[in-house]
Amino acid sequence: MNAALSRFHRQLILPGFSEAAQTRLGQSHALVVGCGALGCASVDLLVRAGVGRVTIVDRDTVEETNLQRQCLYTDEDARRGVPKAEAAARRVRAINPACEVRGWVDDFRAENAREYARGATIMIDGLDNFETRYLLNDLAIDTGTPYIYCAAVGYEGMTFPIVQGEGPCLRCVFPTPPAAGSAPTCDRAGIFGPAIAVAAGYAMAVAIRRMAGIPTRGDSDLVSFDLMAPRMTRVRLGDSARCPGCSACVDRQFEFLDGSRSTRTTALCGRNAVQVLPACMGRIDLAGLRERLVAHGEFSVESGRLRGELLREATPEGGRVELTVFEDGRAIIRGSVESALALRIYAKYVGL
Ligand SMILES: [Zn+2]
Repeated sequence: MNAALSRFHRQLILPGFSEAAQTRLGQSHALVVGCGALGCASVDLLVRAGVGRVTIVDRDTVEETNLQRQCLYTDEDARRGVPKAEAAARRVRAINPACEVRGWVDDFRAENAREYARGATIMIDGLDNFETRYLLNDLAIDTGTPYIYCAAVGYEGMTFPIVQGEGPCLRCVFPTPPAAGSAPTCDRAGIFGPAIAVAAGYAMAVAIRRMAGIPTRGDSDLVSFDLMAPRMTRVRLGDSARCPGCSACVDRQFEFLDGSRSTRTTALCGRNAVQVLPACMGRIDLAGLRERLVAHGEFSVESGRLRGELLREATPEGGRVELTVFEDGRAIIRGSVESALALRIYAKYVGL
């Protein structure tokens, strides 16, 4: 066995694996979009398995509350507020210097999605919002690059691969995104570390086997679990699970990739604020949102809007951040005119 392969010995002796499979992994390029808990766990598994190139895109910085589950980051990363893409890339180089890793501190969106996905063998979901997941779904159908959907919140998780021509797409399974603010987020509902390990473990088993060219029966199944019950469910997904009227994989309308359905931000300069208009408007239960935000500050609900200061957030200059959310999902984030900050705050506390 040559020296480059010797570190993978315990993988190579597994049934199904071979030097040829390992070489295929080494020639593969995984795009990981979002590097929170799922992204970290996925990147760790991919790099240790010997994937040759990994591209990480994430817009966020490391915070202390991430460390309970985001396995690539350290206490020092949190204290220094290092961008996640940067900290993750550094960690990957320390794990396997042969892996060609690129970390981009950026918001993955319609305007740059194709560029980041160029040359990718597979696209991995490390996200926390449906809007960007639908964007990856559009990209997967349009380019034919497999996309591994993966999500976890609370004690639960779900994963299945989206491969054009092999089964349903994300919009066959979830035709419309949940209205802004209606889906649970980790910041409001919490997240159990082992749920991340299980979800990412299943998702990466499929991703690694696919890249290595050794898929097994069941790799296209939808797997969901609840570690509180505990319970695990497996649903066979084939062509019959495709939705005949799917706007994405049947009608090929790529609303998220062409940018016609994306969250819009408008700087309200005179007011030192940014307005956020989510792509999926819907009625928000403001009283419920207020309850879920109780750990993040004091919020009041009156005349159709929720309003308060986010105690754990600050502008780059160290100023206060105020959040106002209206019943239709629109929000105003006060304290800065930076759209990236406003989008991050919205995704984290209201949920896209
Ligand atoms: Zn579809």
